[in-house]
Amino acid sequence: METLEFQSEARQLLRLMIHSIYSNKDTFLRELVSNASDALDKLRLETFRDKDLVADTSDLHVAIEVDPAQRTLTVRDNGIGMTREDVVGLIGTIAKSGTAEFLQKLKESQDAAASQDLIGQFGIGFYSTFMVADKVTLVTKHPRSVEGVRWESTGEGTYTIEDVPDVPQGTSVTLHLKPADAEDQLADYTSTAKITEVVKRYADFITWPIRLAAAEE
Ligand code: ADP
Ligand code: MG
Repeated sequence: METLEFQSEARQLLRLMIHSIYSNKDTFLRELVSNASDALDKLRLETFRDKDLVADTSDLHVAIEVDPAQRTLTVRDNGIGMTREDVVGLIGTIAKSGTAEFLQKLKESQDAAASQDLIGQFGIGFYSTFMVADKVTLVTKHPRSVEGVRWESTGEGTYTIEDVPDVPQGTSVTLHLKPADAEDQLADYTSTAKITEVVKRYADFITWPIRLAAAEE
């Protein structure tokens, strides 16, 4: 297992997410579902382009699983997945030019309301999970990799990454949800009713099937 440091802009953004004053935390689910949907699009495209690619495209979908006892929420897709290099490059750094612009604007913005607008405007991607989770675990496998990869972080400076066997096609992102405290009014993201409502609101445009399940007690 390797422990790596987030690149400095990524660290900045993560700090922002962890201490987020952004009231609309529900948006993390939009980000995860849209990443899952992109991954399904990419797999379909890749299998058209490369006939030698070994992948199952018979039941492409997004699955959301909640476990109230463990306080976890998992968003899973059986899409393109990521290689180890992908994970380090895409999740550990901020490649998007828009994010630098976002951070700059955020520094310039005067008050909390303006900051909130900015977060809503830009869409903050995968890191938005740290608004609601104190630990995030990502497990993924790319069809061209022999082994899968497990990535985990509390969002505080470093993440761990390791190769793992027997990972199914695609990506799963598990959020270890922060304890709900009275001050923060953190919504119950292990409630299927809440998740259904958020998915309807934010993921209506997704064309892939989205299946929701709760863990058995
Ligand atoms: P964006 O989606 O705007 O590129 P994100 O922070 O949401 O930014 O995600 C960063 C990158 O990580 C994505 O562009 C994609 O390459 C990769 N990624 C994230 N989630 C997944 C996933 N479920 N499957 C495959 N790749 C993913
Ligand atoms: Mg995204």
